[in-house]
Amino acid sequence: MSIALAVPNLLGNEGQYLQECISTTFVSSVGPFVDRFAAQLSSESGAVDSAVLCSGTVALQMALEGLGIGAGDLVLCPTLSFIATANAIHHSGARPWFIDCAAQDWLIDLDSLEAEIEAKTELLAGGIRIHRATGLRLRAIMPVMIMGASLDFDRLMQIAGRYDLRVVVDAAAAIGARASGGRRLCETGVDAVCYSFNGNKTITCGGGGAVSSANESLIARIRHMTTTGRVGRDYDHDIAGYNFRMTNVQAAIGVAQMERLEQFLARKAALAQAYAGLAARFDQLSPFPTPAGGRSTHWFSGFWLSDPGLSDQEAAELSKGFRQHMVAAGIDLRLFWKPLHLQEAHRGAPAGRLDIAEALWQRIYPLPCSTHLTEEELEQVLAAAECFWRAPVKGK
Ligand SMILES: *Cc1c(COP(=O)(O)O)cnc(C)c1O
Repeated sequence: MSIALAVPNLLGNEGQYLQECISTTFVSSVGPFVDRFAAQLSSESGAVDSAVLCSGTVALQMALEGLGIGAGDLVLCPTLSFIATANAIHHSGARPWFIDCAAQDWLIDLDSLEAEIEAKTELLAGGIRIHRATGLRLRAIMPVMIMGASLDFDRLMQIAGRYDLRVVVDAAAAIGARASGGRRLCETGVDAVCYSFNGNKTITCGGGGAVSSANESLIARIRHMTTTGRVGRDYDHDIAGYNFRMTNVQAAIGVAQMERLEQFLARKAALAQAYAGLAARFDQLSPFPTPAGGRSTHWFSGFWLSDPGLSDQEAAELSKGFRQHMVAAGIDLRLFWKPLHLQEAHRGAPAGRLDIAEALWQRIYPLPCSTHLTEEELEQVLAAAECFWRAPVKGK
């Protein structure tokens, strides 16, 4: 059996809580675990309230729509992200504006973002900021906490304030992260923090997502939108809403997972350290960056091919060789996210310069990071990787 990249760790109270759902018949979208899970998330995020939903993608979309962002609007986001970031913007009716990542931390490049806004937008009467080439109105930033990395929230909020932009954080894989000074994510002034509980995330519900916020009325609005816009107990609906709720069954798994969040984060940090230790022994490799300030959660860890002497072509070939070597050794290794501006699905979206992400994405190696990966499995991964980099197989 091969060692997978990230599989759920369900060794806590998950089974017991699921059995409770069955024995009480609360298997649908109402039930005690839904409320308990929302309360756990609010407490973890420093939020006033949280809406638990059926996926992380939907959480991002609902946060935007709940803030009144949609058709005719533009949302800045990093190109180095999972496709869901751009899809959520698209489904809200808005369009993404892709920004490069910064070389030092792989997060959205705030210098480039500011330069882009300065160069390509103008402020009209009434405080409306228009992107000149498309005529769309610039409304929000959706930064992504890549690999669970913390962000420079202070600088982000300064920029958002200067240009009157809402901030919806794609924290899909960053549960447990902190801003500088130990602040919880909703204590930073952002409008909303969105999580995913897909099977490969630090905390899973099987599938699911959530929006946490310090803005109580935003969460109330999102609950209303995602509960078919129902008013009262009869079949009265005041908006064309969605059915995007999480079920009590999903939340039951989530509650059990949250009970072990700190334990999961500690294991993830130890795995990141082991992979960083290996990377340190080879000139060509570097660990994934961990931004200064705040707490990063090492959702994924591994190392990357940082050798500046390699062309993109040479790097891609070496990466292919490493992948084949690891897969042959029984270890799951895939390419990391292909930048969003290179995706057919979002062709033609506005974009700034994108060369950092373009050069980087094929050099990133996420290694197995399940929280119950055994020491023997970790040794197997480290030994297989070491064997390759000590005698790299040159691409032909
Ligand atoms: C997983 C993920 C999502 C999407 O979450 P789903 O629950 O799969 O819809 C969005 N953004 C990022 C960065 C992710 O890693």
